[in-house]
Amino acid sequence: MERLGKNHGGYHGETIDIRAVVRDVEIAAQQSGWHSEIFHEQDGFKWLALHHPSSLNSQLSTRIYISTGIHGDEPAGQLAALSLIQENRWPENAEIFLLPCLNPVGFTLNKRENGNGIDLNRDYRNPKSAEVLAHIAWLERQPKFDLYLCLHEDWESHGFYVYEQNPDNRPALAEKIIAAVQKVCPIDLSETIEGRAAKGGIVRPNVLPHERPDWPEAFYLIVNKSRQGYTLEAPSDFPLQTRVDALVAGVNAALAGKS
Ligand SMILES: [Zn+2]
Repeated sequence: MERLGKNHGGYHGETIDIRAVVRDVEIAAQQSGWHSEIFHEQDGFKWLALHHPSSLNSQLSTRIYISTGIHGDEPAGQLAALSLIQENRWPENAEIFLLPCLNPVGFTLNKRENGNGIDLNRDYRNPKSAEVLAHIAWLERQPKFDLYLCLHEDWESHGFYVYEQNPDNRPALAEKIIAAVQKVCPIDLSETIEGRAAKGGIVRPNVLPHERPDWPEAFYLIVNKSRQGYTLEAPSDFPLQTRVDALVAGVNAALAGKS
């Protein structure tokens, strides 16, 4: 598959009409019987938290948290969330908590940061932004999750890769995610990705959250909400549909592996 060769020094690919995508997500969720909660409003946008109960007894359910759209220059995650809701094929024991867009204002600017220039995905240790404060307040009202999945893109990467956080050594899902994604998108096989050792598109960062001052969302989740999780990174230098397909395949593989 040919790379686009577009992204020099930043993301220069397709943009999305975030208001239209958020509206489509809301409509699709409503039609498929999701419960929808607005947990924050700002700059004319509503922050949605969507909930899909398991079709089994809730004691038997596996709670899965999925979020995306924290970086406004990474459109594939929004479209993947929309596609997953429209397909609406979830394992019957899965209870899904889905946050389809954490930084809508960033999308209006096609920028990683929010409207005040803050990278929200570095604001989870001592949060200052209204968006992250509202998100954490929502998270504190939720039960613990069995798994978290954060959907991202990386404009510099040579293919798809995934970060795994699995401190209790539960059955790993990273290989299953890579095996599914490689059918639809190239994998980044570099030995170093974002300064960390990588193998076969899998990064298992050996970091102690308490030693890092600027927590991403994933650190907040691993410390407070879930003992296993994955950050999926689609390569922005490939066509948008390929990146969407990669994230959808990765999510479905993780769900199948966990349920
Ligand atoms: Zn990102």
